[in-house]
Amino acid sequence: MTRPTGHMLVAGTEIAGKGAGIRAVDPATGQTLEPEFGHGSPADVDRACTAAEEAFPVYRAAPRNDRAALLDRIADNIDALNETLVERAHSESGLPKARLTGEVGRTTGQLRMFASLVRQGDLEAPRVDPSPAADGSRSRPDIRQRRIPLGPVAVFGASNFPLAFSVAGGDTTSALAAGCPVVVKAHDAHPGTCELVARAVTRAVTELDMPAGTFSMLFGSGPELGTALVTDPRIQAVGFTGSRSGGLALLAAAQSRPRPIPVFAEMSSTNPVFLLPNALAERAGDIATGFVGSLTSGAGQFCTNPGLVVAVDGPELREFLSAAADSVAASEPSTMLTPDIAHAYADRLGELAAHPSVEELARGTGTDRPNTCRPALLATDAGEFLADESLHQEVFGACSLVVRCRDAEQLREVARNLEGQLTATVHAATADHPEAAALLPLLERCAGRVLFDGWPTGVQVGHAMVHGGPFPATSDSRGTSVGTLAVERFLRPVAYQDVPEALLPDSVAPGNPEQLWRRVDGEPGRH
Ligand code: NAP
Repeated sequence: MTRPTGHMLVAGTEIAGKGAGIRAVDPATGQTLEPEFGHGSPADVDRACTAAEEAFPVYRAAPRNDRAALLDRIADNIDALNETLVERAHSESGLPKARLTGEVGRTTGQLRMFASLVRQGDLEAPRVDPSPAADGSRSRPDIRQRRIPLGPVAVFGASNFPLAFSVAGGDTTSALAAGCPVVVKAHDAHPGTCELVARAVTRAVTELDMPAGTFSMLFGSGPELGTALVTDPRIQAVGFTGSRSGGLALLAAAQSRPRPIPVFAEMSSTNPVFLLPNALAERAGDIATGFVGSLTSGAGQFCTNPGLVVAVDGPELREFLSAAADSVAASEPSTMLTPDIAHAYADRLGELAAHPSVEELARGTGTDRPNTCRPALLATDAGEFLADESLHQEVFGACSLVVRCRDAEQLREVARNLEGQLTATVHAATADHPEAAALLPLLERCAGRVLFDGWPTGVQVGHAMVHGGPFPATSDSRGTSVGTLAVERFLRPVAYQDVPEALLPDSVAPGNPEQLWRRVDGEPGRH
């Protein structure tokens, strides 16, 4: 079956939602697409969560090679969808097919990367403090520690990555890798894509004989079905990517539960770019070209879009602004993900451009096509920026605000007063390194990733990546939603004190039967 049917997938069973449903809209044409996707009810949430809870003890106890095989099989099943998936995602999102083909590769590559992580067996991070102490100098209890999965996880897919941050995206993949069943609330912007991927996941669960409740996907409105999911007592953690208001609503719902649970919400970031004077003097034109390329890529609909530029005013900055403004003015409009996102962009840009202390430097060319984004470059002074928090807010789309500073001290003052960010970028020549060294500790405090002489869009999936940061970039700065470290969000440590040897889990058992990397009496090694 390669066409979406409009059905939800609950623990391996197709279920037609009831009541008013949704149809996807092709944002490039404004036309609605078939079929209709019926919304789930509280009973469907209950069914998915009951199945997830039943699946949990079996799934978490499955040999790690079997869990890894599940992730690999999901990747294979998604790859097999090939053109069908790209076509559907293209018509539901307006994103170019080449970009979506790359996103399929990113999604399946991510699944396979987590599969090898699970196979390596490091996730439990075992520690052993045996009794008596190795040197026999004192007696103490025998304490052994490992990490276990939290339990069923609710995942809210993002609109701007219909594959890599959606049904089988980073949150789902890292939760499954940790040993947690997943219940996904599909995004209404791309329901057909969600269904196709959910079928691929469900088929993998069946093919590998995993418990059916390991995975479910529901359609429904966020405030109703989404809140019911987050407040279901079986759900133990939440992964979310989207707006600040949506993330905060889910955080409030999770905290108001009789037993609150963690919410890992990635929400909003302006991703400041600091242009230091010698770098501008050396290569203002090249920096402008790179900046506008990053700003306008994907109609600016990246969480890492460079929405803020900070620099000391002077001839070098003016040269950069002139080149960047020319390039923005010549840029073509591109289709945004949904009519709502296009309206929100136009409204927010209109408000910002009308702000008395903001000057519009350039706006991209217009078009009659629906739901498009005209890139925009605006500017203000650092004093105004520091005095008015409304100027700090993200405008989701290809809009950037330049903050002109009086001197290096004021530039650092801006850095000190930024909200939490996913990224902070510095362009620095060698002669700027003393200033960059003063800036770096300030940027570490506000951002999850600091990068030099590049652009923040394009987040590499790897072992060292951090896609996170202090509020409002995320609701919990201690983790990442991209890269293998993401799995740690869904694990917690348990200590086993004087537990009889026969009852100990293998990862912490005497003799290290699985030959895992463990810390024994503080010493790391395979012992
Ligand atoms: P969104 O409106 O936050 O929606 C994301 C998900 O959260 C959807 O499934 C939505 O459900 C649910 N949701 C929203 N509000 C909720 C609430 N009050 N209670 C419970 N669930 C709720 O994000 P979006 O639709 O992807 O885009 C809207 C805006 O989000 C954009 O204009 C942009 O500002 C921002 N955004 C930011 C990022 C980022 O990475 N920083 C990425 C994407 C979007 P329903 O829609 O079905 O109700």
